[in-house]
Amino acid sequence: MIVTTPKPLDEILDYIAQYTNILIVGCDGCTQPPRGLREAKTLGQLLELAGKLRNKDFNFKVTTAAKQCDNYLAASMLKPQINDAEAVLSLACGIGVQTLAEVFPDVPIFPAQNTHFMGAEDREGGILEERCAGCGDCLLAATGGICPIARCSKGLLNGACGGSKEGKCELNPERDCAWCLIYENLKKQDKLQLLKEFHPPRDYQLSGWRVTT
Ligand code: SF4
Ligand code: SF4
Repeated sequence: MIVTTPKPLDEILDYIAQYTNILIVGCDGCTQPPRGLREAKTLGQLLELAGKLRNKDFNFKVTTAAKQCDNYLAASMLKPQINDAEAVLSLACGIGVQTLAEVFPDVPIFPAQNTHFMGAEDREGGILEERCAGCGDCLLAATGGICPIARCSKGLLNGACGGSKEGKCELNPERDCAWCLIYENLKKQDKLQLLKEFHPPRDYQLSGWRVTT
């Protein structure tokens, strides 16, 4: 899932200060925590109150889309509603915001979220932690299913830095040392020989930009 947090209301109010008719669009895709219709309605109510403190009356409409990052779905689900809007506030991750900006280039699209990482939660409603940095050359087969790029504070590819203490990272003692986890997993699977394999520096050309599916 893609992990996001709400932007401060004041920042959003600055974006939309010059507009009155604003469409707030939730996303029912993979953002976490969920940012669908209910959250869009709540944001509208909060902004309405916050707007009054600035002597500004907004007219918010709210809707949601199955996946804002799918340009076909975004176009078919949102076109009828976006036509009346002077501006759009998107509750999607940064990918969804960019898709709306591409599909509806004549309407200003503003992010209502900050997008942090691709992650997982330890339990329903629990702590969200980064799990993948989209490096384009997945190493998990050699690391016992633990990503050293996303989960080691230094992104080390060839073993621990030596600063780990009692299984915790030297840079953040609240965080497990990724290389300790890798060691434990490989040991359980009787694959410790994999630690002797050298991983060359990452090829940054493989991450991001474009791929065909
Ligand atoms: S090795 Fe790369 S692709 Fe695999 S989980 Fe880590 S960042 Fe993601
Ligand atoms: S202590 Fe472990 S997780 Fe932290 S930087 Fe060193 S190797 Fe990486």
